[in-house]
Amino acid sequence: EPAMILSVLDVEELHVTEQRLSEALDRERELNRVQQQLVSVVSHELRTPLAVIDSAVQRLRRHARVWSEDEIDNRLEQLRYKVQKLSKLSESLLDAARLDEGRIPFRPTAIKLDEWLGRIVQQQQELATANPIFLQRGLLPEEFFGDPQLLEQILVNLIGNAVKYSPHGTPVSVDARIVEQRLRLTISDQGLGIPLAEQSQVFERFFRASTTLAIHGTGLGLYICRQMAELHGGTIDLQSVPGLGTRVTVELPLAHALD
Ligand code: ADP
Repeated sequence: EPAMILSVLDVEELHVTEQRLSEALDRERELNRVQQQLVSVVSHELRTPLAVIDSAVQRLRRHARVWSEDEIDNRLEQLRYKVQKLSKLSESLLDAARLDEGRIPFRPTAIKLDEWLGRIVQQQQELATANPIFLQRGLLPEEFFGDPQLLEQILVNLIGNAVKYSPHGTPVSVDARIVEQRLRLTISDQGLGIPLAEQSQVFERFFRASTTLAIHGTGLGLYICRQMAELHGGTIDLQSVPGLGTRVTVELPLAHALD
């Protein structure tokens, strides 16, 4: 019966329309969430430190004549630290936006792995004086083909998180080895950890775990890391137990040079 066929088609079309609508709604919800988070990040992580900087500068101007040189130095150093944090935040926001638009240049070259890992871990250790950072190396090829800037950013972000979300004195470890034709980088800590129910969300833009809300952050670092790992054809995963610690694993294919 033609009428019946028509109505069957209608129903199918309706299903398709319904599905498209619900997908559009999901996208809309995701956009809303990201927008709300952006506003909250801008207000907490940008407005507050700016106000602090502003009043510190005013105090300096008012009292500089009676303060000792050491005191002034000290306060200027604190100011510089706050300004650096703000500029890191603006870098993260820009990186995330550029990654979304595919505008981050991907420039792979041969990286001398051993030297490169040693240098980055040493630099991070100089910044993170309260936690020892251990570097373990399995059997590694002399060179790895990847974008040194992006890979450094991944490593710095992950070591930074491990230190930031761990009690003073607890060790952070970085392990590099080849597993099944992939370079596997593992960054582990004995810190706060992330509740199981939240672990699948940590790579989303602006997501922050409930265990770490008392510590400053933007929720952009892991999102950026994931995008940068994916630019290399790689993956990033996280395992965590609240109160025990977190382990993030990055795997990057060795064969990328052949692409
Ligand atoms: P940020 O650290 O700026 O908040 P990230 O995107 O790097 O943003 O991390 C997202 C969230 O994942 C963090 O806010 C924190 O809740 C959680 N997280 C990431 N790394 C760790 C870690 N090593 N230990 C505990 N929580 C972590």
